[in-house]
Amino acid sequence: MSIASLVRKYGLLLPGLLAVALTVGVFVLRINENLGLAELQRTGTQRLELYATSLNRQIDKYAYFPATLGLERDVIDLVAHGKPITDTVNRYLEQLNQRAGTLSIYLLDRRGQVTAASNWNRPDSFIGEDLSYRSYFTDAMRRRPGRLFGIGITRGEPGYYLSSPLLADGEVEGVAVVKVSLEQLEQSWATVEVPVIVTDQNGVVILASVPSWKFTTLRPLPDAERRRLERSLQYNARPLPSLGLTREQAFGENAVRVRLAPPADVDGSSKLSGNFLAQTAPMGDTGWSLTVLSPVSGINAIAWTRAALAAVASAFIGIVLMLLNQRRQHLHDRLRAREALQRAHDELERKVDERTRTLRAAQDELVHAAKLATIGQISAGLAHEINQPLAALRTLSGNAIKFLRRGDLATAEDNLDRIGSIVDGLGTVTNQLKSFARKSSGTADPVDVRRALDNALFLLDQRLRHANVAVSIEVEAGQATALCDANRLEQVMVNLIANALDAIDNRPSRTLRLRGRREHARIVIEVHDDGPGLPEHVREHLFEPFFTTKESNRGLGLGLAISSEIVHHFGGTLTGANHPEGGAVFVVTLPAAGIGETPWTTTSRS
Ligand code: ADP
Repeated sequence: MSIASLVRKYGLLLPGLLAVALTVGVFVLRINENLGLAELQRTGTQRLELYATSLNRQIDKYAYFPATLGLERDVIDLVAHGKPITDTVNRYLEQLNQRAGTLSIYLLDRRGQVTAASNWNRPDSFIGEDLSYRSYFTDAMRRRPGRLFGIGITRGEPGYYLSSPLLADGEVEGVAVVKVSLEQLEQSWATVEVPVIVTDQNGVVILASVPSWKFTTLRPLPDAERRRLERSLQYNARPLPSLGLTREQAFGENAVRVRLAPPADVDGSSKLSGNFLAQTAPMGDTGWSLTVLSPVSGINAIAWTRAALAAVASAFIGIVLMLLNQRRQHLHDRLRAREALQRAHDELERKVDERTRTLRAAQDELVHAAKLATIGQISAGLAHEINQPLAALRTLSGNAIKFLRRGDLATAEDNLDRIGSIVDGLGTVTNQLKSFARKSSGTADPVDVRRALDNALFLLDQRLRHANVAVSIEVEAGQATALCDANRLEQVMVNLIANALDAIDNRPSRTLRLRGRREHARIVIEVHDDGPGLPEHVREHLFEPFFTTKESNRGLGLGLAISSEIVHHFGGTLTGANHPEGGAVFVVTLPAAGIGETPWTTTSRS
């Protein structure tokens, strides 16, 4: 079955198939997207925990560092008591800074001015600067640990500021500040598989695995807020553009699908645009948030591939089902066609049987009619046959009366005896006629060929004698027994012999040779005359009904046609030919009796 014929046959089903394939595709897409997102969320949560832990560890490392400075006598002496040991403290802070690997360490007095700093001997030293505006100062003055991510004013270096109050006799006399770099951590993040960012309490990205994202904001900043931040100098007049994230859909508590617009200046980071699953966790008391951005595109690709596969598979299954259905339909149609054919065949057989029965009945009637016609033909001879004995009877009976009157009883008795035997002879003739005229059973029984020939000759006896025909019969009684109906075989023989008599009627020599023999399982009977034989044009039409060369009152042209039909009915054959010795020979073959089963069946009733 070609696709074209499928389209023809299932024209309306195809759009349905496409709709099903599409629905399946969309369904599988949604499921896979959701499964993929759930998986992404799981791995995202793990990453978030991992990164948060490492960031916390980094920050915690320095948590108590500023407070320990308050334990140093020189520090307190300088800040609280104004001892002239700035130099000593400066060197101490410098050494400490080097050992701890921090960016800088410095001390502020109560007014917020830098009194000592690790970078005391550098040109960009903080010494003497007023940092009272920094939140880590004000926080520490309020006895709270100060925490701030900011960009240094002098060197523009970003860093994490940790501060602690310096106490003397229970009073806050100054503030110790340590600035640490988180760059190392940031660098290690550069190799992570998914982007990760840290935002501070202002929503400004302060750490990012993608360098260009640093000092952008998650949300566009309101003007008032922007002005406040500019005033605080926390980000050292950085422009703080928006990262370009838009929230799309929330997933659970701390996960949200976001869209990241491609950056205006298309550089290497442009590949980091598109859809991401953003998962955020707060970073302890810092007010910061850590966000992991897992790209959704991978899941989308897998989900789309699976959806396409599912759609194709469902379409394929659909087509296979359609084909199977078509095949089933086809088989069903074939079965129905076969049943219809069988019914038509049965009906035809029934009709043939019916017609055969009708035909056979008509045929039987015809055979019988032909037989009566034959009787008509032979009756002229028979009338003569009967007239002679009747005349003899008349004379004998008249004489018998005369002899009785004379008293010649012996002669009268003799006459009466002769009358008796003549009447017996007449009885034989009428019996023969009666038996020939009766309707046949049509069933096959063993028939002695010699007997059938004798009976036929008897009926034609008058004609034979009148024409002075020399008849030779070359078969003995019991020598050849055919399976046939006796009456029908006699009818065939009467026809053939009568034809032979017609043929030799005006010939100078008139002989008729009748032969009968058995050849294997067949009985062969020959009727051979020395008439003119069968010319070509006669041979061609010999067995056709109503074919005759005789005058209208002598032949109907049915004799051979009916004889042939009778012989065929009993499984035999009838042929006519010219005999090599001259004249015509008609040969009848019939199954021999006593050979086993008859090779035909008959339902004829006549
Ligand atoms: P009918 O005897 O009524 O003509 P048949 O069917 O018996 O019809 O014979 C058909 C024709 O066959 C005859 O008219 C005759 O011409 C030819 N025929 C039959 N038997 C012989 C025969 N023994 N010799 C010559 N011709 C014959």
